[in-house]
Amino acid sequence: MNKKQKKNISCNDATFLILKKLERKLSFNEKLTLTIHLLKCKKCRHLFLQTAKNADSIKKMNKKMRKNSVKLKLSVEQQIKIEKALKMKGK
Ligand SMILES: [Zn+2]
Repeated sequence: MNKKQKKNISCNDATFLILKKLERKLSFNEKLTLTIHLLKCKKCRHLFLQTAKNADSIKKMNKKMRKNSVKLKLSVEQQIKIEKALKMKGK
């Protein structure tokens, strides 16, 4: 995050914060900006709820991805798709 306290963040930024939140605690400003965005943006609110439900599996997946030195560039939607695909493969 840059030094300017941005109150209006993009959906990409919100997604990043949602994913970051799974890994560690957000700063007060991060929480605030994310909350403000979630109040305004139905789409991100939906993603937020989905990640909350899938928090454990996404955490595991992020760990795996980090091992392969892949940064969190995927959207949550993409991650959930991958996760579903992995689950289906497992069965
Ligand atoms: Zn959004």
